[in-house]
Formats: sequence, C-alpha cells, structure tokens
Amino acid sequence: MNKKTVYDIDVSGKTVFLRVDYNVPQDKNGHILEDRRIRTTVPTIRYLQEHGAAIVIGAHLGRPKGEIKPELSLKPCAERLGELLGQKVIFAPDCIGEETNELKKNLKAGDVLLLENLRFYKGEEKNNPEFTKALISYCDIAVNDAFGVSHRPHASIVGVGQSVPMVAGILLQKEIDFLSNVIDNPERPFAAIIGGAKIADKIQVIANLMEKADVILIGGGMANTFVAAEGYDMGQSLQDKDRFDLARNLMEKAKELGSSIILPVDFTAADSFSETAQTKVLEAKDFGDPWMALDIGPKTIQMYADILRKMKTVVWNGPMGVFEMKPFATGTNTIAKTISELDAITVIGGGESAAVVDHLGISDKFSHVSTGGGASLEMLEGMILPGVSILQDKE
Ligand code: AMP
Repeated sequence: MNKKTVYDIDVSGKTVFLRVDYNVPQDKNGHILEDRRIRTTVPTIRYLQEHGAAIVIGAHLGRPKGEIKPELSLKPCAERLGELLGQKVIFAPDCIGEETNELKKNLKAGDVLLLENLRFYKGEEKNNPEFTKALISYCDIAVNDAFGVSHRPHASIVGVGQSVPMVAGILLQKEIDFLSNVIDNPERPFAAIIGGAKIADKIQVIANLMEKADVILIGGGMANTFVAAEGYDMGQSLQDKDRFDLARNLMEKAKELGSSIILPVDFTAADSFSETAQTKVLEAKDFGDPWMALDIGPKTIQMYADILRKMKTVVWNGPMGVFEMKPFATGTNTIAKTISELDAITVIGGGESAAVVDHLGISDKFSHVSTGGGASLEMLEGMILPGVSILQDKE
C-alpha cells in the first residue's frame, strides 16, 4: 500500500484518534456474540500504547440514524476490549462535548478511551465539519483501522483526515494489502466464487473480476439470475429479472476475455421457502412452479470442488444457498471446507461468508477473512475507498 501506516509516524506523547469497526453482533441483553472485529484491532492499540500514545477510539454500532438509542451503546464493547487488553478501558458516554473533552485532556500515555456510538449524531454520516471538529478535539493524529466502513465518506473516516494527519492502522493495512494483492497480482490459476442474494450489488463485482480471474464460480440467488437469463424458467427461485440482459452481456464478455463464468448444473430445490419444505434435486430445465432453487446441487458441488482444488488463489463472497436452513446449507458448507483445505491464497470477502467459516470453526484455515463485506466488495469492484484515499501518502 502506498499510504502511511502507524509504523511510519511518531506517536510518542501524542493523543491518537483511532477509528475502528466495532459493529459486532449482540443478543437482546447486549452480550457480544462474536468479537472478531474487536480482537483484530488489538495489534494497532498495543502498537500505539508501546510507542507512547494515548488512544481515543471512535466506532459505531447499528443504525441509530442520529438518535440516542441506549440498546446501541458501545459500553459492552469497552468492557470486552478491556478484557482483551487486560486494562481498564475508559468509556465516554457521549462521543463529543465538554465531559468527553475533560476525559481526553486527562489521558496519559497508554490510556484507552472508547467514545459512545458516533452515529448517535447525524453529523457522523453527513460528514458535518462542526461534528468533525468536536470529534477530533484534543487529538493530534488520526488512524483508520475500520476497513468495514472505509467505503463510507463519514466524519470519522474522511472528515478527521482533513483536519489532522491520518494514517492506516495495522488491520486496515492487512485488509488492503491482501485484497489488492489478490486482485492485482494473484498467483494463478485464480478463482472467484460469488453467491448470495444481493444480486444488484454484486453483478458489478463479476464485471471487474472477469478481467482478473481465470474462473468465476456462481452460486446462490446470483446463479438463478444467470441461469434464467439463458432462457430457463427458474420457477419461484430468487432472481433479478431486471438484470437478465446484464447477465447475458457478462457471459458474452467473459468468452471474449477467455475467462470462464461457471454456472450450476443442478440445484437443491424446495416447494416453499422453509426448513420443512419438500425438496428435490433439479436441473435448470426441470423447474417451474412451485419449485425454487435454495442451494447448488450435488453435481455442482462436486464440479466446483474439483475446480477449486486446482487453484492457487481463491476469493469467496456470498453463500451458495440459504445456508441458514439446514437442508440448504450443504453447498455453502462443502465449498467453505474445500477452500479451507487448499494449498493456496484463500480470501473470504466478509459478510455472510465470514459468518459461515466462523460457525464451522475453520476461519483460521484461510489466508485472510475480511472484516468488511461492503468495503471488500467495492475493492473487488475495482473502486478506491474514500477512507483509504484520505490517508497520507508514503514519501
Ligand atoms: P449476500 O448478503 O448477498 O451475501 O446474501 C446472503 C443471503 O443470501 C443469505 O441470507 C442466504 O440465505 C441468501 N441466499 C443464498 N442463496 C439463495 C437462494 N438460492 N435463494 C434465496 N436466498 C439465497
């Protein structure tokens, strides 16, 4: 990465504003269900502490849309971070204001202060200059370690970088380096696997990856759209009818570029969207009402696994089926396990796929599991993230 990181600056005696992504899943009582996003920021915090900085952490949780929502408080995250660091993390009940300024002024080297949810103020998402000024007060330097939000031009991501020098944290650097190396300089053969339900969002990813990957394997609702675009009646399957033309164009373009887009040859179909539905394995020509494709079928699983075993780089984003329901989880789970066993660079592009490998207990078997779904998709689309452009350039 051609941007400065914490390793390139002197933080001794400084107060550092550190933007992190602590948007973690919690249950109704505020218990944190999965703390990967907190754990992965510890190296940056430790580095800053060891080099004599005081740290003010800013983060968001959920979508409070500029209102104070007690159930979206970051207090539980302060407690969890304290456990991970083995020290008290001071919690500021408001992310700006006089009381918070007092807490900031009193920080000593090594202290960690976590601010309350930044999105309790509209100014955060609107990148309001007054809010930014209040947020960055008493801080000398800003560090971005919030990869998952770096595609958003918010106050804490972009605004603070216009006020004080801003550099990448260790996690952000790792995320960017992994994804950009994979996209720009992959060891070949290189396969991308794209699934999930957000067809409109991901179809552009396919357009960009087609120019980089040797093979693109398609699953999930995305596959239904491509198969239906070829003229098959996919019955009640999830599909994006407005994107049939685009899907056809992509198939044509892939042929011209010599990269292959591979579609399922069979599906696990159900007669309703339910765990207790009647199921059967169908080929595209055999659909029609009431059937819907809810997973890739056994022949497809075998075919995708055989292709993946030949790869040296694999990027995966989006489940192969409705993995939340047991009868339709086989495709996703088998593909996840197959990738985890490869002797290759393997990257999970965030979101649901990261949750799947966590659930299977195999996340440590991948070269990299991204913490950001939307941000990693934008990178795979070939876009430059605003939260990265704002960082100081390396000299
Ligand atoms: P995404 O956020 O785009 O990765 O989509 C994830 C969601 O896609 C999951 O909740 C899956 O249940 C859903 N999904 C995957 N395959 C299908 C399918 N064939 N039909 C309906 N939903 C699907």
